[in-house]
Amino acid sequence: MLDNLAIVGNGIIGTLCAIEIKKKYPKIKIQIIGDKNRPFSASVGAGAMANVYAEIENGPFKDANEARFLNIGLKARHKWLKIFDQLKITKKVITAKDTIVFLKKNASSFENYNYNNMKEAALADKKAHLLVKNKVKQFFPNTYNKIQEATLLKDEFAICTVALFNHLDKIKKKYGIISVNSHVKKIKTLSNNKIRIDLQNENKSLVVNNIIVTAGSNSESIFDKKLKLIPMLQGVGSAIILNDINDLPNSFQNYVVRTVNRGGAQCGLHTVPRSNGTLYLGAGNYISRPGIRAHRLETIRYLYELFSDELVGKKIAYPLYGNLSLGYRPRTMDGFPCIGNHQIYQNIFFATGTNRVGLTWAPEIVNQALKWLDGKKISNDFEGWHPDRDMISYGNDKKCIDYFVNSRLSAGLEHNNFSENQTNKIKKELTNIANNQIKKIKKLYPGIIINPDNWQIILNNES
Ligand SMILES: Cc1cc2nc3c(=O)[nH]c(=O)nc-3n(C[C@H](O)[C@H](O)[C@H](O)COP(=O)(O)OP(=O)(O)OC[C@H]3O[C@@H](n4cnc5c(N)ncnc54)[C@H](O)[C@@H]3O)c2cc1C
Repeated sequence: MLDNLAIVGNGIIGTLCAIEIKKKYPKIKIQIIGDKNRPFSASVGAGAMANVYAEIENGPFKDANEARFLNIGLKARHKWLKIFDQLKITKKVITAKDTIVFLKKNASSFENYNYNNMKEAALADKKAHLLVKNKVKQFFPNTYNKIQEATLLKDEFAICTVALFNHLDKIKKKYGIISVNSHVKKIKTLSNNKIRIDLQNENKSLVVNNIIVTAGSNSESIFDKKLKLIPMLQGVGSAIILNDINDLPNSFQNYVVRTVNRGGAQCGLHTVPRSNGTLYLGAGNYISRPGIRAHRLETIRYLYELFSDELVGKKIAYPLYGNLSLGYRPRTMDGFPCIGNHQIYQNIFFATGTNRVGLTWAPEIVNQALKWLDGKKISNDFEGWHPDRDMISYGNDKKCIDYFVNSRLSAGLEHNNFSENQTNKIKKELTNIANNQIKKIKKLYPGIIINPDNWQIILNNES
């Protein structure tokens, strides 16, 4: 029965779901639950780039995800523009229309792979062009001699999430969507097919017919074990918000400027202009079990040092001030998204596990939630990601080991953990670690290989 819907979690996916569902079904009662300040929300902590091509990577990712990720990203990006247009907020929330991706000189082989993969895919789709030398000089007036090549990605725009939530929260109110300013303690399925949601505030409970779960990395722990949900992890992301950026070259005020992934689970160094005149400089990513976490201090040093060394030069970086921002990316144990209805409790729809791309994908995810409410099948692009699935293998042994070794090698070089001439020795050590870890992972989860970025955190707790 489509008359009483609760949405648990008020990040971008929950908020956009509430608005788009209410638009289609004005009579439905929608309650969206979450602390009004959105503590540790990934959406608030994001830059945020509508990142499609710059997110794709080589390695096992290419086989397992690339076509789907590109398809979803491109469709979602187009829908975002339509939504902004309808809500008349395009100029207020879009802060950059295109993205410049650069490759530094002497980049690791891992960074080179990812950059070339991104470039080939975007050029093939006619969504990019290479910047000629003079343009590189113009975009990076103080650091061009450190840059090997740069590609301009057309339509890879950026959204100021602070401005976006300001507008969406007002629209939510105007549409009569009920905001419940509380955390959810527990969610129980009842014998009459209804769902009871226990709130932290004043020990209150709500009983509803349908529920959409968008509570980020907490989406699993608020349910009973009998639902057999895919375990959740979180990617803790740090960023710096820089003030007084008037002296920065124009490129940083008008474009997203970024690298591809330079190692591990991160999305590369990036700067994104914001509508309040600040500049977002992100982002780190370390993986943890769900729970309150702190900034990793090395991430902050690394971001600021690269900003100064590779992007703007010390003279501009030195006098800047700023604040730190922290958000938890929702990720699953196998590393794939968690989107779709529960196969037994079909009145529960999950929309999480989006890791580094949830902001970009939100409008397409909302479309799947609408299909579920309409009793229709979700799109093929989202097939197989339901919350009570068996875990999905990331790739074969060789590809996963290669990815583990090359990404860690690249990350180690980036952070100056060792010098270039130690590369062969470190490579051997990392190969031994990878072989050891994959054996243990296969014992814990027979028949599948989990995303190598999650091995360490799984083994920390379970071996
Ligand atoms: C540093 C960083 C940079 C990123 N950059 C990008 C980017 O450039 N482009 C991109 O597409 N994606 C990016 N991402 C990823 C993207 O932000 C996420 O995939 C997306 O925001 C997930 O949206 P969400 O609504 O599911 O989660 P969230 O925004 O995390 O929302 C979940 C909400 O649920 C609330 N909640 C949690 N537990 C409970 C509970 N028990 N009861 C009620 N409410 C609860 C939280 O407070 C939060 O408000 C980035 C993420 C980070 C952290």
